[in-house]
Amino acid sequence: MKLSSLATRDPAITHHNPPHQIPLVAASSFVFDSIEQGIDIFDGQAPGHIYGRFGNPTVDAVAAKIAALEGYGLEEPCYGLFCSSGMAAIATTLIAVCQEGHKILTHGDLYGGSSSLIDRLATQGIQRIDTDIRNSEDVEDKLSEHPDVCVVYVETPSNPTLRCADLSYLADLAHHYGALLVVDNTFATPIVQQPLNHGADIVIHSTTKYMNGHGTGIAGAIVCRDEALFEERLKPVYRLYGGSGNAWDAWLVLNGLKTLPLRMERHSENAQRVAEYLLQRDKVRQVNYPGLPDHTDCATIGRQMKLHGGMLSFDLHGGLEAGKQFMNRLKFCTLTPTLGDVDTLVLHPATMSHRGIPRDVRLAHGITDGLIRLSVGIEAIEDILDDLDQALTGLPA
Ligand SMILES: *Cc1c(COP(=O)(O)O)cnc(C)c1O
Repeated sequence: MKLSSLATRDPAITHHNPPHQIPLVAASSFVFDSIEQGIDIFDGQAPGHIYGRFGNPTVDAVAAKIAALEGYGLEEPCYGLFCSSGMAAIATTLIAVCQEGHKILTHGDLYGGSSSLIDRLATQGIQRIDTDIRNSEDVEDKLSEHPDVCVVYVETPSNPTLRCADLSYLADLAHHYGALLVVDNTFATPIVQQPLNHGADIVIHSTTKYMNGHGTGIAGAIVCRDEALFEERLKPVYRLYGGSGNAWDAWLVLNGLKTLPLRMERHSENAQRVAEYLLQRDKVRQVNYPGLPDHTDCATIGRQMKLHGGMLSFDLHGGLEAGKQFMNRLKFCTLTPTLGDVDTLVLHPATMSHRGIPRDVRLAHGITDGLIRLSVGIEAIEDILDDLDQALTGLPA
C-alpha cells in the first residue's frame, strides 16, 4: 500500500469473494491490466468496461434484467439500455431511428412529455401525425398516405384514459409499411404485458414508475429485439447523446425489480376492487379500467394483458369543481403527479398534468374536467376504499 490516500487499486476491494447483492459501482472509468486488454475491450473483442457513459457493472446488470423480463418467452435474446430518465429513453430511441424527412405516427393521449418531445422534433424536420390508434382503418389510411412514417409510437394503456391499442395488429401494419413499432410500456410493465412478444420492435420504460416502485429516483430503459438496430442505431446515440443512466438509480431499480411481480399482482387486485367500488357510486359518471368487463377495448385487453395493472381513471359528475374538492378531501391518498409507487397516488389531469392543453383538445381525448387519475397502491384495500368513500361522500350531491 502506498502512503497516498489517492491510491485507487485496492485488491482487497476488487478481488475477494463477491457480495450477495449486485454492488453499486460508483466509478467513472475502468482499469485495464495491460494495453493489450484495453485494446481488446475497446474493440469489443473482450468483455469489460471502459468509461461510465458507455456502461457500468450496476447499470448493465439492470439493463440486462429489464431486457430479460421484456423478452421472456422469445427465442432470441433482447438488448437493453438503462437511461437517465424515461424521457432520455424516448429521445435516444427517436433520434436513433428517425431522420430528417421521416414522420412519426402516434396518438393524442400520450404522456405529456412524450407528446411535447415529438412535437419538438419538427425542428429537426421530423413530422408528427396523429391517428385514432385503436381504429385499424385510420391507422392503415395514415400509413398508406404517408410512406415516410418510420415509427408508429404507442402507449397502451394510454394516459389518463386507459384506452388500449392492439399491439399485434399495429406491429403487422407498421412492418407492412416499413415502419418500426415502438411501445412505451411504463403503465403495464412486462409483468402485465410484453409488447415484444406481440411484434413490437422497441419497448421503452420510465423506470421512475413501477420498476423502481418506491418513488426514489428518475430513470428509464430501452429494450430492442434486433441486434443490428441495437448495435448500429441505438447504442451509438446512447453513448454520444449522454442519456445513459447512473449506478445509483440502476441499483434502486435492481432492488425494485425483485418485488415487481408481487407488486403488480397486488396493484392489479387493489385497482380491480377500487374500480368496482367506484362503479357503484352515483357521483361517478364513468370508470376507465382495463379490468372492467365493459371496457371498450376488452377484446384487445384479453389478448395481450396478463393482469390489468394499477392505473385507473374516473369521471365525476360535478366537473371541475367536484374534481378539485375531491382532491382536497383526500387524507390517505397522496396528491402527486407521478405514478407506479407502492402508495396510492392521485392526480387531477385538468388542473395538473394537462393544464397547459387547450380545453377543447383535452376534451376531445376524453380528459374531462372531472376526470381523476388514480395510481392504486399496494396498501390494505380498506384504507384506500375508506379514503375514497369519505372524499366522495363529502361532495355536494
Ligand atoms: C413518466 C413517464 C414518462 C417520462 O419518464 P421520466 O422518467 O419522467 O423521464 C414517459 N412515459 C410515461 C408513460 C410516463 O408515465
